[in-house]
Amino acid sequence: MSKPLIARIAVPVPIYSLFDYLIPVEPGQIPLEGCRVKVQFGRNQLVGLVLSVVDESTLPLSKLKPLIEIIDVKPVLSADLIKLLKWSASYYHYPLGEVIFSALPRRIREGAPAELKSENYWHLTEAGKSLEIESLSRAPKQAALLSYLQNSLADGLNSDQLNEVWDNWRTPVKVLIEKCLVEVRQKVQTAVITSPDQIKDKSSHGFNLNAQQAGAAKEVVQALNTYQAFLLQGITGSGKTEVYLDVIEHALAQNLQVLVLVPEISLTPQLTQRFTQRLNTTIASLHSGLNDTQRHSAWVLASKGIARVVIGTRSALYTPMPDLGLIILDEEHDASFKQQEGFRYHARDLSLVRAKNKNIPVLLGSATPSFESLENVARGQFSLLTLTERGAAGATPPKVSLLDVCRRPMEDGISDTLFNKIEEHLNNDGQVLLFLNRRGYAPLLMCHECGWTTECQRCDANMTLHHHNQRLRCHHCGYEKKAPTQCPQCNHESLYIPGAGTERIEVALTEKFPSVVISRIDKDTTRLKGELDRKLNQARSGEARILIGTQMLAKGHDFPNVTLVGILNADQGLFSADFRGTEHMAQLIIQVSGRAGRGKRAGEVIIQTHHPEHPLLHILLESGYAGFAKTALIERKQANFPPFSYMVIVRCESIYKEQGIVFLNECRQALNYEGVELFGPIPAPMERRAGRYRWQLILLSDERKKLHAILRHWVPGIHKLKTANKVRWSIDVDPQDMF
Ligand code: ADP
Ligand code: ZN
Ligand code: ZN
Repeated sequence: MSKPLIARIAVPVPIYSLFDYLIPVEPGQIPLEGCRVKVQFGRNQLVGLVLSVVDESTLPLSKLKPLIEIIDVKPVLSADLIKLLKWSASYYHYPLGEVIFSALPRRIREGAPAELKSENYWHLTEAGKSLEIESLSRAPKQAALLSYLQNSLADGLNSDQLNEVWDNWRTPVKVLIEKCLVEVRQKVQTAVITSPDQIKDKSSHGFNLNAQQAGAAKEVVQALNTYQAFLLQGITGSGKTEVYLDVIEHALAQNLQVLVLVPEISLTPQLTQRFTQRLNTTIASLHSGLNDTQRHSAWVLASKGIARVVIGTRSALYTPMPDLGLIILDEEHDASFKQQEGFRYHARDLSLVRAKNKNIPVLLGSATPSFESLENVARGQFSLLTLTERGAAGATPPKVSLLDVCRRPMEDGISDTLFNKIEEHLNNDGQVLLFLNRRGYAPLLMCHECGWTTECQRCDANMTLHHHNQRLRCHHCGYEKKAPTQCPQCNHESLYIPGAGTERIEVALTEKFPSVVISRIDKDTTRLKGELDRKLNQARSGEARILIGTQMLAKGHDFPNVTLVGILNADQGLFSADFRGTEHMAQLIIQVSGRAGRGKRAGEVIIQTHHPEHPLLHILLESGYAGFAKTALIERKQANFPPFSYMVIVRCESIYKEQGIVFLNECRQALNYEGVELFGPIPAPMERRAGRYRWQLILLSDERKKLHAILRHWVPGIHKLKTANKVRWSIDVDPQDMF
């Protein structure tokens, strides 16, 4: 008798091991690696994924349960994706089952077929199109429906659309079908794709790449079908997107699929639009704004090779694409590529692993590359491609100057000098963009008599004043209350309002320029669906003359009419508790400045600062981002911080301060850390947030391999600590911030 076969299965549970199940002999079907199965797990039935089929288990056969059901005939995940997921789980020390299932869309996780979902659409037949409505006058419901279909511009209507207008349409529609006036057709859910038959805007094909762009594109095209990592460092407005589009067209011509990862699609609708207008192919987009059905169909279209280009955010990294031949990551320095909770992976780093596994090129682009990527260039791991000129004819980089605001009158966060500049640009028909990384009216309220401030009860932070509803809101935990009009501590009748946020700037400018259209773009003004799009269009068309915003405004937008950019407070990043503080500050300043002078007219940038002598600000202005990075990287090296060393943080949160410290101390004792520097337990820079105390252990090592070898031993042990169940804890490999 032959040995029974055993399937080794990953299930979405926070346990590091795989689980063995017997493959039933009847009906003789053996699941392939990458197929989903249904299994009994404790008291629950779970969907699991087969990782291998073996003929021996570490458990006695009598202890193994049989599979309940084999869901797929064909694998939903290919061998190379499974390899990437295994690599990810091992590198981030996260349970493999959870990693695998977090990479799948919800419908697939729940066991739905990996097939396109089609829907019924009701159409008019030729007879239905030409029928005179009057001839149905004795059947008013049918007449109304027919007339509605005749007047509809859509190509057939689905049940959702019909439900919106009619309570009971199914009965009259049935009769219309019997009369051969209406027919039902099945159509695939296509809300998220654009296909080649849609009209393309050929006019946007109107220019040729300049020499630098063509050179860069050529190098990447030559590397198709081999692994090579490129860093495209091009100043803002240099036409990086044009390089991407050119390379993509070549890849498509070679029958390859292309994966494009971007920071946040909803913030940059223009980018997706440029892709869909230009590329003559089927494009799927995958981002957080999709519902489950849309996500499912986009994923299936990509995995079947029907969508040839996928544009998506971080999590699209794991989209199955059988013909994948190129990965592009735009704005590669952006922090949103790193997941900040749960499975804390970095999509940029993993895109390199995926490309290497598949033996294909990867193209990272940015005007302000991360120090990690610059260091990879220095070490010869990445090939550097540079664009030093603006792409659009006549566009030149803006003139940037520092404005010392020490001891100057500052009306609501804006100095007199900047007010005058704004006026000057408005009078000359320019458009003004003001950047301030702080929303709300003011960061706090305080009492001049007794020193009381609006501290949050649950966080080590002040609550922000919101003027329009006179409320205080904590931006860290969401706690909210009415703003007091007098001091709750000493009853002094007036409270002082120090500092300014975007709302205060808006109020001040509305007073100063009452006839000018001012648009504030931040989280508070763009909560409603469609509002951000509307505001971005208003900005692009030039209708809004003054734009005030947070980093939402800094991201890759092309506002051709902006002539003046004001950065209202550049100092926040200079003295950050985070070792990446200055890097992020410089990136933000350059990105925001890059919104000026993108059209025919020259741009000007004014940076308000209380530290005009700060050497890093000077280097940034004099030698640009590249020069700044060179100097800052030397400092980084001296301090031995990443990318010159490798960091891991064990983070812990608990309601009782002592519990977290005890847990981290036990972790520390369990660690055999020769060759690794260890700091902590230390409090996080914001020790208390949302009522929880946050402490951490920091591990630093010069050798990545050594660090990970230590973790591999250590992490399973942490799970077994009794104190581990009493706190919330996580391991953050290559953390992007220390908060
Ligand atoms: P980036 O992505 O580097 O910020 P974009 O690709 O958005 O730059 O290009 C900035 C502007 O320059 C766009 O309006 C684009 O159409 C224009 N542009 C880019 N390349 C060229 C070119 N070769 N000739 C003419 N205009 C160009
Ligand atoms: Zn007081
Ligand atoms: Zn709070």
